[in-house]
Amino acid sequence: MTLLRVAFQTLGCKLNQLETESVADRFLAAGAEIVPFHIPADLYVVNTCTVTSKAEQKARHDIRVALAKAPHAVVVATGCYAQMEPGALAALGERIVVISGDLKASLLSLARWLSDNWQGHGELLHAVLEWQTELEGDMLSLDRFAFHPERFAMHSRPALKIQDGCDNRCSYCRVCLARGPSVSLPAREALARVRGLEEAGKAEVVLTGVNLAQYRSDGLDFAGLLAFLIKETNSIKFRISSYEPERVDEAFLAAFANSRVRPHMHLSVQSGCTDTLRRMVRPYEAEQIRRAVRSLRVARDDPFLAADIIAGFPGETDAEFEATFDLLSELDFAWIHAFPFSPRPGTRAAAMRPHIPERVAGERVERLLALAGRGKHAYIQRWLGREVEMVVERETADAPRIIGTTENYLKAEVVTDSIGGMRPGEAVKIMIHDASKRGHAEITAYLA
Ligand code: SF4
Repeated sequence: MTLLRVAFQTLGCKLNQLETESVADRFLAAGAEIVPFHIPADLYVVNTCTVTSKAEQKARHDIRVALAKAPHAVVVATGCYAQMEPGALAALGERIVVISGDLKASLLSLARWLSDNWQGHGELLHAVLEWQTELEGDMLSLDRFAFHPERFAMHSRPALKIQDGCDNRCSYCRVCLARGPSVSLPAREALARVRGLEEAGKAEVVLTGVNLAQYRSDGLDFAGLLAFLIKETNSIKFRISSYEPERVDEAFLAAFANSRVRPHMHLSVQSGCTDTLRRMVRPYEAEQIRRAVRSLRVARDDPFLAADIIAGFPGETDAEFEATFDLLSELDFAWIHAFPFSPRPGTRAAAMRPHIPERVAGERVERLLALAGRGKHAYIQRWLGREVEMVVERETADAPRIIGTTENYLKAEVVTDSIGGMRPGEAVKIMIHDASKRGHAEITAYLA
């Protein structure tokens, strides 16, 4: 392929990040140059998200920025927002090609197709449109689990997509509408891919999906899959991207207790008030959240536990919010991802009343974020002076320092004079020394 400069922008979840990385890997393999999104490129790929109106706004903004930066470039917009509202994205300009989220896997063929059929002759836009037309005949054979890069150029800790879609119908969510019903990667194929990563020297794999708790394949649920993968591999560690509180059962806890599973859990909590949870159509009550957190702490020594919370859901009274706040304070999460409620077209919650004023929802988010800050501080203090495993990500510009993520999900900056020979993706033992004030690092540490 004539040297094509391609830039990627990903919004939303870890699954989107993995899918972008897989497409980028195909472009690299075809000889393209991957450039940062903020510089002029020939082709931009924007992998969008529909979870909030802000995420959609950002997608539109990023597309406009790309077109302003490189007016002759082609912008390919894909992802959940492209699935739900293709017209809104197509209307942003004439050089935009919208690939709906359910056809995203087709992008894996674009690099090779351009390399075989275009080679720099003629308009890139015409070539991409021709590829899109050819693709239409082949849509049914798309494999949603084809997103498995050979090289992980964007992340040192590789992710493995084992599940997609969701069978729940939470009243606020349209990810389930955008990505359709739950589907799972067969367990044998998951094993083959994890073995491949292990053989490639990766220390850790992040198991990823829209709703991992809905994993079902070959008679295995998610806990069964995790136990199977641990048994059939040698040393690679497993990180669970997120999980549902009501599915933290005995089998899951037995798998989570294994030292090859990272002591880190992101729980999809959403609210700590049972009445609010009912309106959200979440399949659990506040007490189940309490039980899940307590049993996760029994299974592992002070794991990093985080929670997702929506503040200002329709009808959320002050008392309901205080119930959530009190439960989160009691459970002492190491982090809280707090978002104001965002009404999504096509969902039941969009029509629910009464709306909570933006100002009130914003104040609730502020209180939750302050609580999250205190939780993170307390968590780090408890780990000072302790030894943990860390996956190396990169050197800092002012070496000799390396950045990595610890087993319990802290961003670490490690002061060392033995950087040579350390490869991204490799695991090292470190001793946590202090809370960090530098850049994105949360702790400073030394090699143990
Ligand atoms: S569990 Fe609920 S919030 Fe999560 S993807 Fe499924 S429908 Fe959406």
